[in-house]
Amino acid sequence: MRPGSYTYLTAAEWDARIRALDRLALACELCPRSCGVERRAGARGFCGAPAELVISSIFAHHGEEPPISGTGGSGTVFFTHCTLKCVFCQNYQISHEQEGRVFAETELAEKMLGLQAQGCHNINLVTPTHYLPGVVRALKRAAGDGLTLPVVYNCGGYERVETIDLLEGIVDIWLPDMKYGADAPAQRYSKAPDYVAVNRAAVRRMFRQVGPLRCDASGIAERGLCIRHLVLPNGQSASTELLAFLKSAFDPEDISISLMAQYRPMFRAAGFPEIREPVAVAEYEAVKRAFIDAGFGGFYQDPDAMDGSFCIDFTCRKEEPLTGR
Ligand code: SF4
Repeated sequence: MRPGSYTYLTAAEWDARIRALDRLALACELCPRSCGVERRAGARGFCGAPAELVISSIFAHHGEEPPISGTGGSGTVFFTHCTLKCVFCQNYQISHEQEGRVFAETELAEKMLGLQAQGCHNINLVTPTHYLPGVVRALKRAAGDGLTLPVVYNCGGYERVETIDLLEGIVDIWLPDMKYGADAPAQRYSKAPDYVAVNRAAVRRMFRQVGPLRCDASGIAERGLCIRHLVLPNGQSASTELLAFLKSAFDPEDISISLMAQYRPMFRAAGFPEIREPVAVAEYEAVKRAFIDAGFGGFYQDPDAMDGSFCIDFTCRKEEPLTGR
């Protein structure tokens, strides 16, 4: 079995990272919102997360990109609350409606080991940033008890470079969104007027840390960066501007894109006329063609994904099933 990079961290290195993350969480500045609230004293910031870990579900996910889900599934941990809270969130039950329950760090570590025993290819942390000190403590414990799977960091791409640096050697595969190529929709839908600059700096840092996506002989991801982009209707994801940035910043051969057609007008999207409908097939196909023509490889959803089959009902996952779906 492949030894994960974090299995080479010494106890002192783990503890130094955890101390640094604890300091960032004290008057919370784990994410770019830098709310400055004392979550350990019961205060809540923009994300709404408490100091304890709150998790919606843990299971073997078979719907991620092929090198992430493989045949055994991706050992996915969906953390409750979010630092972006988009009005159209496809996982709004956990990001906005707080679906989930408190987990002890020891329990999360045991669940990670259970996913490994079940045959999952990786540990896939979905929106973990607001819980990072507890998540890294759980990873340290699991690594000490035999966890060797690659760690996937699956996030909205709204991350501080300081936080990314503290995860060097712990995260193997960065899987960030690049949600918007312009700040106006980032402000309108995610209350993040600085999203573009923050997101671009974060993705550059992630790439510097892990490089291009690399897979083993059977096509399972081991290390690297893969960028997700969900195409919104009526140009609202500013995909043209995003593509222009990617072409200027990277060699297309180095970057794996996961282009998603699966947008559904969920949660509060009905209140925004321009994103009230799924993306038109012709619009999605034009974005897809532009990325492919620019030389970006990766994973391109078919417009069939617009049928809603990729959406998960988290209210059905109050306990953490460890079986595939
Ligand atoms: S993690 Fe939450 S509380 Fe901390 S800075 Fe970000 S939004 Fe604010």
